[in-house]
Formats: sequence, C-alpha cells, structure tokens
Amino acid sequence: MNASTHLAVGATVGLWCARMAAVLVSHKPPQVQLTVQIGVALVAGTLSHLALDAIPHNDGIYKTALGTAPVLIPELAIAFGAIFAFVFIRGLDPLIVFAGVVGAAWPDLFLMLNVNVSIHEVLHSLHKPGLVGSMAVQLVIAIVALVFLF
Ligand SMILES: [Zn+2]
Repeated sequence: MNASTHLAVGATVGLWCARMAAVLVSHKPPQVQLTVQIGVALVAGTLSHLALDAIPHNDGIYKTALGTAPVLIPELAIAFGAIFAFVFIRGLDPLIVFAGVVGAAWPDLFLMLNVNVSIHEVLHSLHKPGLVGSMAVQLVIAIVALVFLF
C-alpha cells in the first residue's frame, strides 16, 4: 500500500482505538491513561498496516528512474501535513496520533532498511491489480480514513 494510505489509516485507527482504551483506563492516573493510549495507538497502527497490505494492491507509483524518493518525499509531506493539520484544527492529542502513524509506518521503514519482519512479508498480498485502479482504491481508503480523523 502507498505510504499516505498507511499513515492516514494508522492515524485514524490509532486515535479511535486509543479513545476506546481511554474508557477502560479512565479510573487510572492521567499519565497511565496517556501511556496506555499511546501503546494502543502504536499497536493499532501496526495492525492496520498488516491488514492494508493483505488487500491486493499495486505500489508501482514508487518505481521511478530516480528511485522512490521523488514520489515518497512529496507524498509524505502532504500526508503528514494533512494529518497534523487535522490534529491542530480538531485539538487532537498529537502524541496519540503520531503513535498511530509510527505504528503504521515502521513495517515499510524496516523493509526499506532491509530489516526483514516475517509477519509483514507473510501477510502481504501476492496479487497485484492494475496500477490506476489500485491507486484510486488506495486514495479512497486514505480519504475515508482522514474523514474519520476529522
Ligand atoms: Zn507494508
């Protein structure tokens, strides 16, 4: 899946899972609540990454003559900009949202660093649909995720 789809879904899933976790630990001191929420957002973000990668998709957009950077760097700027604009506008906890984003990002970051995480590889879909259709689906998933973040 595209980085922006992973980040948007990770931010939103992390936030909502952290909100549910907050209900369960509402009797605990605020620092404990925040720590639990950050941990839950991190794990939820990671699980969202594995779930999204299990959906047949096409990442061909990153295959440029100059490598992934010409697409990935502006994409990350836009994705982070959109996510943290929503964090600012809605007054969301940036640590919790960031934990969801980190959870959603690390499996592919490790892959880029040639660190093999077997569950990431095992759950990754082998089927590769057409690029244009897959990009449209991934964009829709990212936008729907951002709507729930907002
Ligand atoms: Zn991945």
